[in-house]
Amino acid sequence: TDLETNWCYFKGEIMPLADAKVSVATHALNYGTACFEGIRAYWNDNQQQMYVLKMREHYQRFLRNCGLIKIKLNQTVEDLCNITLEVLRKNQYKQDVYIRPLAFKATPTIKLMLSGLEDEVTIYTFPMGNYVDISSGLNVSISSWQRINDNAIPARGKICGAYVNSALAVDDALQAGFDEAIFLTKDGNVSEGSSCNLFIIRGKELITPAVTEDILEGITRAAIIELVSAEEDLGLRVIERPIDRSELYQADEVFFCGTGVQVSPVTRIDDRAIGNGTPGKFTLEIQKRYFAAARGDNDKYMHWVTPVY
Ligand code: PMP
Repeated sequence: TDLETNWCYFKGEIMPLADAKVSVATHALNYGTACFEGIRAYWNDNQQQMYVLKMREHYQRFLRNCGLIKIKLNQTVEDLCNITLEVLRKNQYKQDVYIRPLAFKATPTIKLMLSGLEDEVTIYTFPMGNYVDISSGLNVSISSWQRINDNAIPARGKICGAYVNSALAVDDALQAGFDEAIFLTKDGNVSEGSSCNLFIIRGKELITPAVTEDILEGITRAAIIELVSAEEDLGLRVIERPIDRSELYQADEVFFCGTGVQVSPVTRIDDRAIGNGTPGKFTLEIQKRYFAAARGDNDKYMHWVTPVY
C-alpha cells in the first residue's frame, strides 16, 4: 500500500514503515494497552511550506495520556516534535499529511498488569486530504452504544483499547447509511462523535459538552473555543455545559470538529433536519477562519503552527 512506502520513526531511528514490525505476543496488540495521537500537517501551496498544527499541544496531551496507563517514554515533548519534523522532511511531502504517534506496552507477555513492562513509541505519517465531506453537511445518528465512562476506560486518555467503543458506534452508523455516530453518556447527555467533538449553536450561543462528559479533550475543540472567543465580530458566546439529546434536534446549527474531520457541518440527525438542512452560516465562517489559521494563512494564529521546511 501507499502507507507502507513511507518513512517512519521506530526503535529510535527513521526507517521504512514496512520494516517497523512487532511480535504477535506484544502486550498492546493483545490488550489494547497503548495511547495514540492524530496530528495534521497542512501544505500551503502559495508559501511552498508545510505547517504542523498545534504540535506541542498534541504531544503534551500524548505524554499526559501515556501516564494514565503507565507508559513512560524517554522522549520529551521537544524530542517528539523534533522527530516528527524529521520524519516529515524525510518523506518530502508537498500535500496535506496525517501524523500518527503511537506509544505502547511492547513486552511480549500475557500478564495483564501495566507495571514493569517495556514501552515503545512510533510515529508514522501518510498523505491525507479531507477525511469526511466538509462542505455538504453530514447525516448522523445517535448511537445505541453508550460512551465509555471515566471509571471504565477514560475517554480523555485516547487509549487504543477504548476505540473499540468508537468502532462499534461508527460501524453501526455507516452500515445504516449514516456518515457518523453521536454518543450519549451513561447519564444520557450528549458526549461526542466516534472520532470528533461536537458543538451546537442556539441563537448567539456556541455550546459544547464540558470535558467531564466522557469526551476526548480535543485540541481542535480548544482551538475553536480560542478562535471564537478572540474573533469578537462573530458575536458568539462560548458555553461549556451538558447538552440534552433533544437540543441537538432543535439546534440552529451543529458541527463536528477534530484533527480528522476538521470542521464538519452536521445537517441531519436521526432523520431530522438541523436548521434549514444546509450547513449553517456560523459553522461555515468558523470553518473558513479555522482553515486559514491551520494552513498558516493568518498572521494572528502563527503560534498554532510549526513550519516543516
Ligand atoms: N473525540 C474523539 C473520540 C477522537 O478520537 C478525536 C480525535 N480525532 C477527537 C474527539 C478530536 O480531537 P482532536 O481535536 O484533538 O483531534
